[in-house]
Amino acid sequence: MNPEKTEKTSKIDLNRNDMPRQSPEIRRHNFNEVALGYTEEIAVKEAKRCLQCKKPKCKTGCPVEIDIPDFISCIVKGDFSSGIKKLKEKNCLPAVCGRVCPQEAQCESQCILANKKGEVAIGRLERFLADWEAKEGKVDIPTKAKPTGKKIAIVGSGPAGVTVAGDLILLGHEVTIFEALHKAGGVLVYGIPEFRLPKAIVAREVDYIRQLGAKVITDYVVGKTRSIDELLKEFDAVFVGTGAGLPWFMDIPGENLNGVYSANEYLTRMNLMRGYQFPMSSTPVKKHVRVAVVGGGNVAMDSARTALRMGADESRIIYRRSHAELPARLEESENAEEEGVIFNMLTLPVRYIGDENGWLKEIECLKMELGEPDASGRRRPIEIPNSNFRMEMDAVVCAIGNSPNPLVPSTTPGLQTTRRGTLVADQETGKTTKERVWAGGDIVTGAATVILAMGAGRKAARSIHEYLETGKW
Ligand SMILES: Cc1cc2nc3c(=O)[nH]c(=O)nc-3n(C[C@H](O)[C@H](O)[C@H](O)COP(=O)(O)OP(=O)(O)OC[C@H]3O[C@@H](n4cnc5c(N)ncnc54)[C@H](O)[C@@H]3O)c2cc1C
Ligand code: SF4
Repeated sequence: MNPEKTEKTSKIDLNRNDMPRQSPEIRRHNFNEVALGYTEEIAVKEAKRCLQCKKPKCKTGCPVEIDIPDFISCIVKGDFSSGIKKLKEKNCLPAVCGRVCPQEAQCESQCILANKKGEVAIGRLERFLADWEAKEGKVDIPTKAKPTGKKIAIVGSGPAGVTVAGDLILLGHEVTIFEALHKAGGVLVYGIPEFRLPKAIVAREVDYIRQLGAKVITDYVVGKTRSIDELLKEFDAVFVGTGAGLPWFMDIPGENLNGVYSANEYLTRMNLMRGYQFPMSSTPVKKHVRVAVVGGGNVAMDSARTALRMGADESRIIYRRSHAELPARLEESENAEEEGVIFNMLTLPVRYIGDENGWLKEIECLKMELGEPDASGRRRPIEIPNSNFRMEMDAVVCAIGNSPNPLVPSTTPGLQTTRRGTLVADQETGKTTKERVWAGGDIVTGAATVILAMGAGRKAARSIHEYLETGKW
């Protein structure tokens, strides 16, 4: 037996450290954050499980190429200040990413210990460092390059726009972000609920971009207040990161009844407009007793869990495939289940039925079964004939997907779109079909993830900088 190998193997600790969380019985009645974060002691213990691989596979799974073993080794040494600096070299939103990124499908899935089901909790360690910095109250502002005199307009303040802003400002350019809503942050403020991503954290990360020197102008709808062509007269380059905020409906009878919402409207009312604090906030919210959420992604889980917290006796997920095909993060569907959300799988709504006053009272559904895999690789749901049944329901939230808002493409000559309404842009550079205009994030990919939007922002920033230096499109 090779004694060296035996010694190394025996050091491997496969026990991932759990993160303390509010108990399901308590958290289903409040909007406070569910996961409470690692203490210093747990963070160091978890960090010590990392093997500091010579060829770290975790790093290849990170869309923004964070030097993962490096920041983890800082935690092992208790040098949290260097750890957060390391993280921020590649990620300007670590407190957000540590909370909502699907690490289980990215860095953690590539960790060498994932083979033995003991992957290092990289996301939780990332969150720990970001929260540590916030608690310390001192934020390191990196040194900026000398001013270049070049001006860039960024349309949309979601993760894509904020990343472009952060990168370009450090390179010495002047950056202005134009945001349609009254608060900056994109889906991070209007979509993802407080109990998963506290808004104070998003505000802090957007403030960091302001502290770097970016101007953030809210209540400014590009395409209405000013067009892209008008911005191009004042700015050297424009980045479009307007996301995918146009909700889909199923186009079935009864969708116009009172009590039928898009997830966008439902979550915006609760999060951005603080409906859950009514009457302290000025957004009135009707109390629903039975709520059905149609869809199986993160947006659906967020809506169903919000409904419980708003006092619903019953909150259901209605999904046409099975558990195995749920697109939501596993952690989020498990959280929902623990809190008491009921899952009606292999079920498809076909009609909403109203009462004499135009309010929803029932939904009619069909039972489904799974067939062969379709183009997405997931098994295709097939209707079972004559399997119709009804459920009493006083609200439905439709969370089946979103497309880009067409305002910017439709008011900008020369910007080409795809059949899905997304903007055509080069994958590596973010260059669109219009000179001096770049795009990235959900407006290009369709609804995706925070980290992919940030990755696209990073590539676009690199390309914009190169253009500003060389003048070559
Ligand atoms: C409820 C919900 C939960 C989610 N959960 C997760 C999760 O757990 N993990 C994850 O990784 N991803 C999650 N996502 C997806 C993720 O939030 C998005 O992929 C990401 O925010 C896209 O970033 P973006 O910058 O492209 O666009 P957005 O975040 O959509 O930001 C676009 C911004 O542009 C603004 N805008 C639009 N049009 C204009 C205009 N004409 N003029 C000026 N401003 C404009 C919008 O108001 C918005 O603020 C979730 C999405 C939702 C809706
Ligand atoms: S692959 Fe896993 S064990 Fe190896 S460096 Fe990355 S986090 Fe550490």
